[in-house]
Amino acid sequence: MSTNQKIVIAVDGFSSCGKSTFAKTIAAKLGYIFIDTGAMYRAVTLYAIEHGAIRSGMIDQKAVVALLDEIEISFRFNPQRGASDIYVNGELVEDKIRTIEVSNMVSPVSAIAEVRRKLVAMQQAMGRDRGVVMDGRDIGTVVFPNAELKIFMTADPKVRAQRRYDELTAKGDHVTMEEIERNIRERDTADMNRAISPLRQAADAVVLDNSHMTVGEQMQWLDRELAKRL
Ligand code: C5P
Repeated sequence: MSTNQKIVIAVDGFSSCGKSTFAKTIAAKLGYIFIDTGAMYRAVTLYAIEHGAIRSGMIDQKAVVALLDEIEISFRFNPQRGASDIYVNGELVEDKIRTIEVSNMVSPVSAIAEVRRKLVAMQQAMGRDRGVVMDGRDIGTVVFPNAELKIFMTADPKVRAQRRYDELTAKGDHVTMEEIERNIRERDTADMNRAISPLRQAADAVVLDNSHMTVGEQMQWLDRELAKRL
């Protein structure tokens, strides 16, 4: 790998580890495209809620699958955030997909085979020309098994819950620590135990536990990992 050769960087790991913040910072540093694949699963979940395929916490899988053809997901760069915002059928849904209601339903929606098939195909197309940093659960194992750098992120569950709590309350959402802790625990369990593309550390991934690391320290860690590969 030469210094000017564009690569694929896969960032997988548990919920609320700061994967997106880290991936976004890496992309800005390298001039790469950042793709938050969790946002795509959240967008499908939001659409299913808004179109009656999920009611009172119950998912009608057939109805979700039937909606898939009418869901058009796109990203547009937002210079204020330094990252791309997600749109569904032209509507900006970046904020709407981050609520606790969507978080509570996204794992079962992401376990549906047809949902994964559609979104994985989109992700592979977006990374075809390389030069991407993609964060999710199955990027290094399924979406880009040949990614040149695979990072598996983890952090202390208490630290993760606190970060998610701070993020949501800063936006004015009314959530409790208990709700957040339960959501993180349940999503991790569901994501690790689903039949299709479960959350797994790829054999060739490097582990990053960022419980007590600033983003700056994580970037120094990244520089060392990149240097080993160049
Ligand atoms: O990354 P984020 O926490 O926003 O992801 C939301 C959910 O989407 C995860 O808990 C998981 O169920 C699903 N997901 C997935 N595969 C990915 C990314 C996210 O199944 N590549």
